[in-house]
Amino acid sequence: MSIREEVLFRIKSVDFEKKAEPENVSSYFGENTFSVSTMKEHISESTFNAFKRWMSEGIIISMDQANEIAECMKRWAIAKGATYYTHWFQPMTGLTAEKHDSFISIIAPGKVIEKFSGNKLIQGEPDASSFPSGGIRATFEARGYTAWDPSSPAFIIESALGKTLCIPSIFISYHGEALDKKLPLLRSDEALNKAAIGLLQLFGHKDVKKVFSTCGPEQEYFLIDKNYYNLRQDLVLTGRTLVGAPSPKGQQLEDQYFGTIKERVVNFMFEVAREAYKLGIPVITRHNEVAPHQYEFAPMFEESNLAADHNQLLMELMKKVAIRHNMVCLLHEKPFAGINGSGKHLNWSLADDKGSNLLNPGETPEDNLQFLAVLVAVLRAVYLHADLLRASVAMAGNEHRLGANEAPPAIISVFLGSQLTSILNMLEKGAKDKVSKRDIIDLGITRLPKFNKDTTDRNRTSPFAFTGNKFEFRAVGSSQNISTPITVINTIIAESLDYVADKIRKASSGKDFSAAVLRVVAELIKETKDIRFEGNNYSEEWVKEAKKRGLPNIASTAESLKALEKKDNIALFEKYKVFSKEELIARYKIWVDMYNIIIGIEANTLNEMVNSCIVPAGCEYEQLLADNLLKLTQLKKEVKLKLDAAVLNDQKAHLSEVAQKIYYVRRNSKELEKLLEKAAGLRHEERAQLYFEELKPLMEHIRRHVDGLERVVSDEHWDLPKYREMLFVK
Ligand code: ADP
Ligand code: MG
Repeated sequence: MSIREEVLFRIKSVDFEKKAEPENVSSYFGENTFSVSTMKEHISESTFNAFKRWMSEGIIISMDQANEIAECMKRWAIAKGATYYTHWFQPMTGLTAEKHDSFISIIAPGKVIEKFSGNKLIQGEPDASSFPSGGIRATFEARGYTAWDPSSPAFIIESALGKTLCIPSIFISYHGEALDKKLPLLRSDEALNKAAIGLLQLFGHKDVKKVFSTCGPEQEYFLIDKNYYNLRQDLVLTGRTLVGAPSPKGQQLEDQYFGTIKERVVNFMFEVAREAYKLGIPVITRHNEVAPHQYEFAPMFEESNLAADHNQLLMELMKKVAIRHNMVCLLHEKPFAGINGSGKHLNWSLADDKGSNLLNPGETPEDNLQFLAVLVAVLRAVYLHADLLRASVAMAGNEHRLGANEAPPAIISVFLGSQLTSILNMLEKGAKDKVSKRDIIDLGITRLPKFNKDTTDRNRTSPFAFTGNKFEFRAVGSSQNISTPITVINTIIAESLDYVADKIRKASSGKDFSAAVLRVVAELIKETKDIRFEGNNYSEEWVKEAKKRGLPNIASTAESLKALEKKDNIALFEKYKVFSKEELIARYKIWVDMYNIIIGIEANTLNEMVNSCIVPAGCEYEQLLADNLLKLTQLKKEVKLKLDAAVLNDQKAHLSEVAQKIYYVRRNSKELEKLLEKAAGLRHEERAQLYFEELKPLMEHIRRHVDGLERVVSDEHWDLPKYREMLFVK
């Protein structure tokens, strides 16, 4: 019996004690967070007010007040059983990082007390010289600093034997450059805030103090049994299967999508939700996705910074909880070939402190005008900066989706739906003449209010789709930290809002305001027309059409990251104080480097699997066939066993076939080794190009031969769990 078959017999789900009475979520939601309301209960009124002012007006609190908050946070955490604290931050790798410190301080020999000061709350120094800085930090000043982000509440992470207080933090260099993903996001929200307020003031909203982006990321993932996972080096080391023949039954029947959730999986979902609720993460939707064993969690949307922290936490929770259920949660964008990959639809909108959603078509013509102004600003932003949006989702895992016959394509376009499209078409024409207040009504603007959330008119193939009152950016990878895509969206839209506001200001000076807005809107509708596409984004025709329109279509990760080096783009980010030139170039370098590292690991893993597992399995089977053939030939000769020539020839052909396949696999893996050697001598960009153009296709080639071998070698000799098992075992 192969190891794989032994495992098959061991597989079973975990038995859980039935909960007598499930608790109401409201009784424990957010209990492990030091939320604003918890803070209010624990600190003095004056410090609380100072904190509120800090959050709304940016007036920083004093060290005394910081000390008071730190003391209260410590007491709260210790009362809940925490013994360690950590600044929790998001380095440029996309993961989260933590360095734990104990609360204890030694006050006399053998005597300790629990201590935590404002100083330690506000700033940490994780001696983080091993995090990538892309050249920002020289070794002699290798230190990075973490600083408290008070806009995201501290939280407690529980493990079986203890609890840790986590303080969401930014991560900066000695000179204050952003070394993480969170600080740029906070900066971009600031830029968006200023630009949006500028536009709102034109529309008479003088009382709005703050505008911010909101975000709801829909998280897709796969679950497989842990026993299988542990037998697959590729899954363990790279998060995806590098070889594996397709299962005869894949997703053809689409019987998984929105189907009944298996008990084993639903138990996992219950526990993830429970853990998430304790941390104040509002997961609300859970369902089966299209591919077998693929699922989704979606939260209620929140302010972007919080949504980004919560998504990172949710991904960590999912991985942790899955293990408790004897499963592994795969967040990779393409864990299995031939069936759907996983993404993270990023729902994005703009909200103000009065509770309005700026992408909600309003109830009155005036509101509609404002909505239209924001809408054309979005269209313009995507039209001008499709390259940056593409770069914001560029990573090795996502390369299997974008531009690789997988949803969505690498071409960025916007879908608006038929109703909105016809309104824009009308406005575009109408604006040719002088527009009066009466025309506004004639143009159908009053009909806009009816044009509420439109669920029938969905285009699932569009990478940037308007879905009723928000945009959905569908090109984000399932394992990605969403901070970077949000940072890019916020920045390009800030720039566009400024542009639109400026245009309206100029067009309306001394003239009818509504007519001026409509003129600007019409002009921009025309200018940005090429970015709109309502058809099937997966079709060949669209690739041709997009090319004609001059829209970028970049399949390669490293190639698309070049947008970060472009002069105009650097100027844009510098203007809005989101990234300095150095910060942007650093990201370019780090992300190209990460791509190379990941592809390098994948290639070496494949090579090792071929040599240590696949070829030996093939040889064992080959030997079996050879022995069999020899024996038959011998029997035919010695005891005159009756065998047609065709029978022996068939056996020979079978043996040759296996031997040939083994040969191909080995020959190509030798090529792979040569390519890796060649790559080692190349600079980062050239290496990435070689990986994309030559190494990855070669890996696919090897895979095809390995999969051919898998189909003929007997089950008894094949140790790698198969697709049909990983994806279908209950
Ligand atoms: P879908 O049909 O795409 O699943 P849903 O209405 O279920 O649409 O919403 C999907 C996600 O979009 C949820 O996470 C939801 O919270 C989020 N969302 C809804 N409104 C907004 C908004 N104004 N801003 C950001 N995200 C939003
Ligand atoms: Mg959706």
